[in-house]
Amino acid sequence: MVLPESASSEVTAWLKQNWDPDLSLLAWRRRLFEGRWAAPAWPVEWGGRGWPDWTEPVVARAISEFGAAGVPGGAATALAAPTILTHGPDPVRERFLAPILTGAETWCQLFSEPGAGSDLAGLTTRAERDGDEYVVNGQKVWNTSAHHADLGLLVARTDWDAPKHRGLTYFVLPMHQRGVTVRPLRQMNGHASFNEVFLTDARVPAEFMVGAEGEGWNVARTTLAHERRFGAIRVAGVPAGGGRTLTEARAEAEENFAPYVWYPQRAGRADLLVARAKANDVAGDPAVRQDVARALSIGRVSAWTAERARVGRAAGRPPGPEGSIGKLAMSRLARASAAAHSLIGGPAGMLSGTDAPQDGIVTEVLVSVPAQSIAGGTDEIQHNILGENVLGLPREPSTDRDVPFRSLPRNL
Ligand SMILES: Cc1cc2nc3c(=O)[nH]c(=O)nc-3n(C[C@H](O)[C@H](O)[C@H](O)COP(=O)(O)OP(=O)(O)OC[C@H]3O[C@@H](n4cnc5c(N)ncnc54)[C@H](O)[C@@H]3O)c2cc1C
Repeated sequence: MVLPESASSEVTAWLKQNWDPDLSLLAWRRRLFEGRWAAPAWPVEWGGRGWPDWTEPVVARAISEFGAAGVPGGAATALAAPTILTHGPDPVRERFLAPILTGAETWCQLFSEPGAGSDLAGLTTRAERDGDEYVVNGQKVWNTSAHHADLGLLVARTDWDAPKHRGLTYFVLPMHQRGVTVRPLRQMNGHASFNEVFLTDARVPAEFMVGAEGEGWNVARTTLAHERRFGAIRVAGVPAGGGRTLTEARAEAEENFAPYVWYPQRAGRADLLVARAKANDVAGDPAVRQDVARALSIGRVSAWTAERARVGRAAGRPPGPEGSIGKLAMSRLARASAAAHSLIGGPAGMLSGTDAPQDGIVTEVLVSVPAQSIAGGTDEIQHNILGENVLGLPREPSTDRDVPFRSLPRNL
């Protein structure tokens, strides 16, 4: 049985023998992968050690404390890897898992469409078989990081005569091809993290199918469960230090992190409330005190939920309803913090730019907080999931579950 101290000391001993700060980042990560330290909780046959899930953060921390570069963060490790590990098939695992850990390929998520967000199973991007390939036509939207991704996690409709949830198939789409056009979208907070992606006779090899044909809904649910569980996709930090490996890792993290730079603001920045209330001389105001206390209490309680989820993961349990509960708690925290920031700042809270209060961060909070309740499934959808799957309430009424998708009325 592996213990936290032994996991940490084993990887440190290996690093003493193997860390070379002058390697290219790719060469170093290949070495880390071949040493089976890139993902110790993965099965042995896919480059891991078959260790329990809790060893992953322990090993990652030891690598960082040693001053070496670890695996990349982002959609690749948070979404693509667990989905492909769970659903395969083996040739897909063989082709894509190692480059996820070396950072050789970057990923984005191509799920939402202009007419299908909450109702994801109603999507109309089509994939039609043509020999050894599928030809894909349609439009995706809100696709974070698609502008620099090599690969996309694509859900498309392959059978129009099956009911809506059963006619979908999940693919890995190569993004760098003529049939894929990516256009950035600018948000009301000024950042351009999302894109719209137009697919016009784009091609995907049949062997890049994840799971089986028609199983796409089930596969997509795995991706979404991981997305909710982790809240926001994280980008790995890089330790201080010189040398080629860390310099390249910093450049990579900077590029990967750019779309997520405003994510702390979307969570409401409860951490700034007390200091701002004091600085604005309103810390004694009973209304402000109530609002700040409310936000901080929600934050404390949701940290416990997150801890429960973390322990569940360490025990090897698959993502469960705590993902939806945690996501709802984050939405409440974001809104409560935004309300408290407004009360503290008054009209000055509407100023933006570097000479505004807190360098404009407060304004950015106010226009970024709505995203928290939308990304990864809206609050209403989380309520539906909890009502149906946890509380056993009757299913939301629907008339479109068991009829061929082709016959459903929809916007054209
Ligand atoms: C920060 C951010 C990052 C994102 N990144 C990605 C990404 O990388 N890839 C990707 O594919 N998508 C991404 N999305 C899109 C996201 O998944 C969708 O915006 C979300 O699922 C909601 O879909 P929608 O925008 O079409 O809203 P709609 O589904 O049109 O919803 C509109 C409103 O109706 C409500 N509603 C809808 N159905 C129901 C129902 N059955 N019961 C009760 N209320 C309902 C909703 O709660 C919402 O308030 C991102 C979104 C955000 C904000």
